Amino acid sequence: MVPRRRRSPEDVAAASTFEGERRVLLAAPRGYCAGVDRAVVAVEKALERYGPPVYVRKEIVHNRHVVDTLTEKGVIFVEEADEVPEEALLVFSAHGVSPQVKQTAADRNLQTIDATCPLVTKVHREAVRFAKDDREILLIGHDGHEEVEGTYGEAPEATTVVNNPEEARTVEVQNPDQLVWLSQTTLSVDETMEIVQILRERFPNLQDPPSDDICYATSNRQAAIKKISPESDLVIVVGSANSSNSVRLKEVALEHGAARAERVDFANQIDEAWFEDARTIGVTSGASVPEVLVDEVLRLLADYGYGEAAEVVTAEEDIVFSLPKEIRKALQDAGHEDTGRGGRTR
Ligand code: SF4
Repeated sequence: MVPRRRRSPEDVAAASTFEGERRVLLAAPRGYCAGVDRAVVAVEKALERYGPPVYVRKEIVHNRHVVDTLTEKGVIFVEEADEVPEEALLVFSAHGVSPQVKQTAADRNLQTIDATCPLVTKVHREAVRFAKDDREILLIGHDGHEEVEGTYGEAPEATTVVNNPEEARTVEVQNPDQLVWLSQTTLSVDETMEIVQILRERFPNLQDPPSDDICYATSNRQAAIKKISPESDLVIVVGSANSSNSVRLKEVALEHGAARAERVDFANQIDEAWFEDARTIGVTSGASVPEVLVDEVLRLLADYGYGEAAEVVTAEEDIVFSLPKEIRKALQDAGHEDTGRGGRTR
């Protein structure tokens, strides 16, 4: 592949379609959520406590930088529990696992740490409870995503995955009067409501979950990007291609008035040609993205004449989850005083 020609600030200024001030609107909240923070800290503490290698099933969170950094520290990422040597230490990722995966780990006598986000665990519990009550579950989410596999695996006989509005129009059910919907935690709020609306028109007795399954972090990041998108000629979303909530942020930006939106893992993936007709650039990041990656993007924008970023705050977040119980106990046994919270801020 021919490498992309990098453009200097002078090249961009000469090719610009406008004159005058350039500005950056920085969405808040953005970046790390409490579930991601907890999962990453759990792996770091496991490395400290037990030393490498620590095995992690799937990516602990969907972010290239986080996975690469942990790999350098001695984490081995595997696809399945049966790849892990017997009696080794295995961490389950923030997206959750099905009971079958837990069984495989138990069969191999693995020591496990469950870093499933408590908000995903909540959806698992709902699935189990509804299946016990002979409900039929329509799980709105994306087939193949780890979180959907985990939730589906809690009640496979009772669950059908609905991927999109088209499937909502055609899905077949056994008993329309015993139906309930659940969802993946990282979907587009608007698209999920559209799917529920279609389902409810077809199945008027469809029951809602006890509380929203789309989590606070997903909703807050989407609300923030909705606010700045109408003013943005370009929205840059920092986040990985396999990060559901990052991909949704790009879609939401385009749906809410951004002239253009691009998702990048790193600042060096930004094409400076995008700046030629972008007077205002909106910046946000997915829930699995450390702030250091946003800082790099802001530094690049500053080099190209974008002034100090103006933060647009649509919500304050102060949620912190306790670390997984297995790691709290291990730290306690080792005499550590602070065994409690995930708690790293940006
Ligand atoms: S995005 Fe939401 S559900 Fe997923 S880890 Fe973060 S807080 Fe938990």
